[in-house]
Amino acid sequence: MIRVGLGHDTHRLGPGTALVLGGVAIPHDRMALGHSDADVLLHAITDALLGAAALGDIGELFPDTDPANKGRDSAEMLAAAAGRVTAAGWRIVNLDCVIFLQRPKILPHRATIRERVAAILGIGHDRVWVKAKTGEKVGPIGEELAIGAECVVLIERD
Ligand code: MG
Repeated sequence: MIRVGLGHDTHRLGPGTALVLGGVAIPHDRMALGHSDADVLLHAITDALLGAAALGDIGELFPDTDPANKGRDSAEMLAAAAGRVTAAGWRIVNLDCVIFLQRPKILPHRATIRERVAAILGIGHDRVWVKAKTGEKVGPIGEELAIGAECVVLIERD
């Protein structure tokens, strides 16, 4: 049996020194704002995995009303979600992700991000793809007010 899952996330941007994407801190003059560490990519992947397995969503498992989730490491949340999915007998076939941001260029960081995401999930980096699109300098993405991410994941079970 195979199942597909879709995840999407958006965070506001503000002045900062680094963007955390896929568990990788990229030096930058803007940062994502949020209750946790605001890693949009890991949040989108977490929701895609949970959705594929019909096991809930990130807001349900890790509510922002719970003080324990304040400033929480998104890698830890993704690992916990992936643990639930694999405990239900699912294996991750692959995931494909898009990050929406005007700056900085993601290409120089892509290999590092893929390795980090694959390590969190315990899969080969050949099963993880990441690409980025700008907002063409219009709208909240293009004006650097927000950052977004989407992920599609395929899982399989005997
Ligand atoms: Mg989020």
